[in-house]
Amino acid sequence: MRAVVVTADQSVEVLDVADPTLPGPDGAIIEVDATAICGSDLHLYHGVLPSIGIQPGHEVVGRIIEVGPDVRERRVGDRVLVSAVVGCGHCDQCRRGDPVSCRVTGPIALGTTPDVHGGQAEYLAVPAVDLFTLVIPEGVSTENALLLTDILPTGFLGAQMGAIQPGDTVAIFGMGPVGIMALASAKLYGPSRIIAVDVVPERLARAEAMGAIPVDASGEMGALGVLEATGGLGANVAIEAVGHQQTISDALSCVGPRGRVSMVGVNLDMDFPFPMALAFLKALEFRAAFAAIPSTWANLVPLVTEGRLDLSDVFTHRMGLSEAPEAYRLFDQREDGILKVLLDPKA
Ligand SMILES: [Zn+2]
Ligand SMILES: [Zn+2]
Repeated sequence: MRAVVVTADQSVEVLDVADPTLPGPDGAIIEVDATAICGSDLHLYHGVLPSIGIQPGHEVVGRIIEVGPDVRERRVGDRVLVSAVVGCGHCDQCRRGDPVSCRVTGPIALGTTPDVHGGQAEYLAVPAVDLFTLVIPEGVSTENALLLTDILPTGFLGAQMGAIQPGDTVAIFGMGPVGIMALASAKLYGPSRIIAVDVVPERLARAEAMGAIPVDASGEMGALGVLEATGGLGANVAIEAVGHQQTISDALSCVGPRGRVSMVGVNLDMDFPFPMALAFLKALEFRAAFAAIPSTWANLVPLVTEGRLDLSDVFTHRMGLSEAPEAYRLFDQREDGILKVLLDPKA
């Protein structure tokens, strides 16, 4: 089959690779209908993790074409969305839909290690398919199904961990796809205002169109911009949706006393310089986590089907799998107003 493979620093290619085989008796093979490129795929693209040879892609929608003998609920022919994160599939945490807390393997993001291939490909092997997929419900489009595989649960978690109270001021750092999901989710909590911080004009304009106050952080004005916009008081809640040192520092700096900082951007730095004095003196709460994706579907699907979340037009680009090298380049360079790319494995 054809699959995207990371071949060098800042290079992916579409190569012929072996077809996937069942990843165990509870697993399944999925023929991929649609897949997307995630901001965290850019960590692989830039070799932040050892990434050469990895087949990326953890946002996948498709049809089941083969199931193992121990699969109970899914059937060949089911059209499913796949959790970006999987676990052992047997422990109590996996069974309650929280592979992030898996006691056996820990969380495994599809397509981030040499052993677990991703779904920017024609086919994908999914372990413990009863737990880690959802049959796509009536009224959920392919695009929204893709959002439910990762970035909507992640953005929603950003708002949830911020414990936003009605009337709060919320600052969101990063108006990429996850930041947009966090913005859509934060609006459900009734904040008085949402301040959107980014450096890309199109992204700020999109956030403004969704009702946020845009703050241009070029020239390292992120935290200061939020303080200015709040008359020096600072935000009640900061949601960090980038994962860079600067935006994390800005999120910590921009909240007022007893502020809550909720981090869903990916940062794997073991030596991050945490501003402890700031945390103490302002009595901050800081939370960071990956979303327990399968456990969020029961809440998020009704919000999607009832139209309660403003998810329109997140996918700015639709391209064939064969165009993946160009899609990665555009996304990495933030060219052409790109926010989110849908890849069609048939093209
Ligand atoms: Zn992702
Ligand atoms: Zn487990």
